[in-house]
Amino acid sequence: MSISTYNEEILPDLLPLYYKRVFPVAVFHKWLCYGDSAKFNRREISFTLVGDIYLRYQAFGSVEEFAQALHKRFPIKIDIGAVYEESLHMRSCVGAKTPLEREVVFDIDMTDYDEVRTCCSGADVCSKCWKFMAIACKILDAALKEDFGFENILWVFSGRRGIHCWVADKKARALDDNQRSAVAENLQIVKGGQTTRKVKLPQNIPYSLQRALRIVDQYFEKAVLVEQDILGTNDRVKDFLQNVEENLRPLFKEPMLKHQTSVERWNAFQNTFQKLSKEQKFPKYLKHMVEEIKLYYSYPRLDINVTKSLNHLLKAPFCVHPKTGKISVPFKAKFVDNFDPSTVPTICQVLDEINVYDAKTKEQEKALMETSTQSLDEQVNVKIKDYKKTSLLKYVTVFNEFLRGLQNAAAKTNSAKKGAAMEY
Ligand SMILES: [Zn+2]
Repeated sequence: MSISTYNEEILPDLLPLYYKRVFPVAVFHKWLCYGDSAKFNRREISFTLVGDIYLRYQAFGSVEEFAQALHKRFPIKIDIGAVYEESLHMRSCVGAKTPLEREVVFDIDMTDYDEVRTCCSGADVCSKCWKFMAIACKILDAALKEDFGFENILWVFSGRRGIHCWVADKKARALDDNQRSAVAENLQIVKGGQTTRKVKLPQNIPYSLQRALRIVDQYFEKAVLVEQDILGTNDRVKDFLQNVEENLRPLFKEPMLKHQTSVERWNAFQNTFQKLSKEQKFPKYLKHMVEEIKLYYSYPRLDINVTKSLNHLLKAPFCVHPKTGKISVPFKAKFVDNFDPSTVPTICQVLDEINVYDAKTKEQEKALMETSTQSLDEQVNVKIKDYKKTSLLKYVTVFNEFLRGLQNAAAKTNSAKKGAAMEY
């Protein structure tokens, strides 16, 4: 039987199979241990069950215990919280528990781009607006590595319309709420509300934003001007000019509306800006107006509340998104341009792939039996893990690379203290 077509009603029937055969429980556990299995026991893992039943502040003593809970409860969502000072086994004392560490996390949701994207809105995503996610991923990844010195960063597609980022370096996990807020505020430059200039640059653009602008420039014309067509109608020009101070708007409007396409109108805007700048018609603080508008249309829009607090929950990788059936899979930032959310496997697809693989293997085994005098045990190799039979394999490989990075970083710092345990 083929189960290729996903709909939300079949999810409760598929999840028991998914957790039993596909969910990579061992690598998941290995990650959250960071080399010390006692740490897993103090980590909050929350489940959302069918019917929106939330089980918060759960912790599991071992990988077996965790797997058993998955097999018994088959949550439609797993969230990861903080590592606490003590075990969370006694849930009644939870109020008294102190969160000690967790990854620094970022959540970027496509709905926060609704004021700048024109192709879709709400929960919808297409290959055109996905480019906003690619830009966000590249800018953030570069900032985290080059400005903050972090190395162990996991990027995950949320399964529907956004991306998550987990910064897992030891020094990142140790940051307190104030330090997390500082990181988040530093990376949040598009302001909300009704202000005219939602991005305000200082007289000297800091290096991090110069780098962000270089990334934006690789995408701006094709992704923002052509595909989003942000100046394609008179109404869109009007929205665009909301970024310009009111008294200056007429100076731009006329030359822009002499043209038809977004690219031509953008060029007219830039040319007018340069001409008026030469004539010193602008106050000094508007000297980066072009760059501010580029960033307004393409700089990462973060839900910074997720980043700010140590014990905020974030959905775990390899969960199944209930609406789409897609698995939230890790990906590499440097290949984000090739990441296509429409090809991410659904729970149906991976379960189908296992069936197809097993059927084929059975046939091959039968053929071998008929032609060989060896016993079946001698012919058939060690049983392979079910996820390795599916298109999920390449995403688990990305996750394993991330884990290796963590171990290598630990090996480097531990080499100085010989004989020290490999906790990281
Ligand atoms: Zn779209």
